[in-house]
Amino acid sequence: MTTPTCRACGTDLKHTLVDLGLSALANSYVPMDRADQNDPRYPLHARVCNNCFLVQVDDVVPPSEIFSHYAYFSSYSSSWVEHARKYCEAAAERLDLGKDSFVVEVASNDGYLLQHFVAKSIPVLGVEPAANIAKEAEKKGVKSLVAFFGKETAEKVVAEHGHANLTAANNVLAHVPDINDFVSGFATVLADDGVSTFEFPHLLNLLEKTQFDTIYHEHFSYLSLYAVEKCFEQNGLKVFDVEELPTHGGSLRVWAQKTTGTRPETDRLAALRAKEADAGIATLACYEGFDAKCRKIRDDLLAFLKSAKTEGKTVAGYGAAAKGNTLLNYCDIGTDLIDFVVDANPHKQNTLLPGSHIPVHAPDHLKVAKPDYVLILPWNLSTEIMKDMAHVKDWGGQFMVAIPRVEVIG
Ligand SMILES: [Zn+2]
Repeated sequence: MTTPTCRACGTDLKHTLVDLGLSALANSYVPMDRADQNDPRYPLHARVCNNCFLVQVDDVVPPSEIFSHYAYFSSYSSSWVEHARKYCEAAAERLDLGKDSFVVEVASNDGYLLQHFVAKSIPVLGVEPAANIAKEAEKKGVKSLVAFFGKETAEKVVAEHGHANLTAANNVLAHVPDINDFVSGFATVLADDGVSTFEFPHLLNLLEKTQFDTIYHEHFSYLSLYAVEKCFEQNGLKVFDVEELPTHGGSLRVWAQKTTGTRPETDRLAALRAKEADAGIATLACYEGFDAKCRKIRDDLLAFLKSAKTEGKTVAGYGAAAKGNTLLNYCDIGTDLIDFVVDANPHKQNTLLPGSHIPVHAPDHLKVAKPDYVLILPWNLSTEIMKDMAHVKDWGGQFMVAIPRVEVIG
């Protein structure tokens, strides 16, 4: 077998961050009538590049396969829609956007973000590879192009609509196999004084809080500011500002411009570079021992669930999130330990979770089954979920999470 190479800089990848074994595709929910079939499993092995320090998983599954049954509709999370609204307000003011501006969002999903610019009469275009999701955006008045983004799509957008004053790309930089082509697309689509923002979970949080469940096949890269700046440099962009956000367990929003741009670097960019340097982000020592921390969470969760079973207690899951599927597959948990999962997204209800084949029901099913424990799989939304599902306490039910450690909460 040949040594895999870094998707950003081409260096041989010789260092493992964590090997999560063979896992089913985290977003390929299984129809109930395929319950007796085995889902295809692919290696899920995260490695770190010792040159640019991009953490990445092997590129073993083609994007067309990953995105063919994509069922993530951003608008089902009210806190995420509100997060997007605040971003639009801030960006429109900072960049003085108006009726003559042009905003492009890549991975525009169901229009959860661009709808806020539409409300301000600012022209927009969404680029979204999943046709069924782009259709929902159109219903919100968000013009959408069904395509994967890269240099070629960027040239098409410029030819048809002109250059963009602002581009947004939230939680997609990590999802592209060819990160260099993707980033160079932004340098192509931007006006000379245009700005590109990117939001992505910060690798530093993944490492410090053992968020290994954010590793799944469609999430090709795990990004630090350091690795992003290295990648941008070779593809025509440079970062001039960065914000730390609480979303997805700790994210970064970088503000970038063309390499010829004249916006000065902010103090908070210098501060975040220093924070990463203090953590040793560009040294292999920073990544050692992560694998052992993941194994400890697996052992603790299995011990908890088995002891609950022995005591005659029942456990359900909340949130059919991709990260939950990584956790369940890594721990080899099935319906023997977790009876069912509930999710507010009707597209996921009445399916089975990939790999574990745990059934997904509507949230109301909790009231019928009255489980003793509700394991919150999207732990980044646990505050919102515990508020919405406060009635779980009525029958003495308790919430729990597995990341960053296995514990009963609330
Ligand atoms: Zn590299």
